[in-house]
Amino acid sequence: MDNLIPEITGFEPELGGGLRQNAVYVDEAMCIGCGHCSYVARSTFCLEPDYGRARVIAQDGDSEEIVTEAIATCPVDCIAWVNYTELLELEAAREHQIIGNIGLVGDKTSLLAKKNKKS
Ligand code: SF4
Repeated sequence: MDNLIPEITGFEPELGGGLRQNAVYVDEAMCIGCGHCSYVARSTFCLEPDYGRARVIAQDGDSEEIVTEAIATCPVDCIAWVNYTELLELEAAREHQIIGNIGLVGDKTSLLAKKNKKS
């Protein structure tokens, strides 16, 4: 009976869980789609299929150490820890953000694809 309080998993911060205090966020307008973050923290980041930019798919996908390592690999420094209030604001703002396609294979805006189509 020396441990009446179950181990705090942190999956419910509202109830005092020990979840990391910050969330991770990708500024997709700056992302160049190199994929480094998604190679390092595979359960946290993926490349969004429409525009080829990284996006967070799960806040608890990888350990904080792995996510921090993934952030460090970003060549354009467009991943950041933010608090959960900021995350909600950023995600809401992203819905109105215009993000161009960065040239995925088969992208219709690719100049080479257009050139090859003509010949
Ligand atoms: Fe984008 Fe940075 Fe991830 Fe590369 S490492 S895909 S630039 S967020």
